[in-house]
Amino acid sequence: MDQQSAARKKVVEKGKEILAANLTIGTWGNISCRISGENCIAITPSGMSYNTLEPEDIVVLDLNGNIVSGKRKPSVEVPLHLSIYNARQDVEAIIHTHSAYATAMAVARKEIPGAVEDLVQIAGGNVRVNDYALPGTEQLGINTVKALEGRYAVLLANHGMLGVGRDLDEALKVCQIVEKSAQIVLLAQMMGGVVELPQEDIDGMRKFYLEVYSQG
Ligand code: 13P
Ligand code: ZN
Repeated sequence: MDQQSAARKKVVEKGKEILAANLTIGTWGNISCRISGENCIAITPSGMSYNTLEPEDIVVLDLNGNIVSGKRKPSVEVPLHLSIYNARQDVEAIIHTHSAYATAMAVARKEIPGAVEDLVQIAGGNVRVNDYALPGTEQLGINTVKALEGRYAVLLANHGMLGVGRDLDEALKVCQIVEKSAQIVLLAQMMGGVVELPQEDIDGMRKFYLEVYSQG
């Protein structure tokens, strides 16, 4: 299978997984990944149900946003995804969701503190809230890249969240851990507050995740 077809297939699979994981409802959210060996990305079409998506519905774009292949209208968040790919060479995949607890924090404009072991490993520390901008705008991309600096997840003010990773599997895991961490923070606040981890331990756990925590 060629690289474009492989990427389209993986994006479709992740769409079904974000629905099954309750990370989004309906057609909201969007998913993309870089296409290996090409300066292109594969991204979900705008406003289509993840349940019925087929690989041919996925749109392939170059890094300037020109359509390379695909008949559908791409996600309205193309400027957001491209801003991240153009700013972050370490990012291979992006998943944007509207999951409930992460969005609650984004609406309250409260960051998720670096207080949970799995979160700081996979997200690299606290999850900041970006400065508000309307969906689909270039400004949303600019504000998001800023808030995502040195991190792998970000809360989109009054909107949702976004997870990035070295592949789509990792980006999905980021979204799930962020959602779980948002729930934990809300519960901990009801019990008197959150105790944040020291930066030294956060940095150590991130290093451990990248260098040790796998079967190699
Ligand atoms: P699209 O369906 O165009 O990807 O838009 C959904 C969304 O979440 C916008 O922020
Ligand atoms: Zn959205």
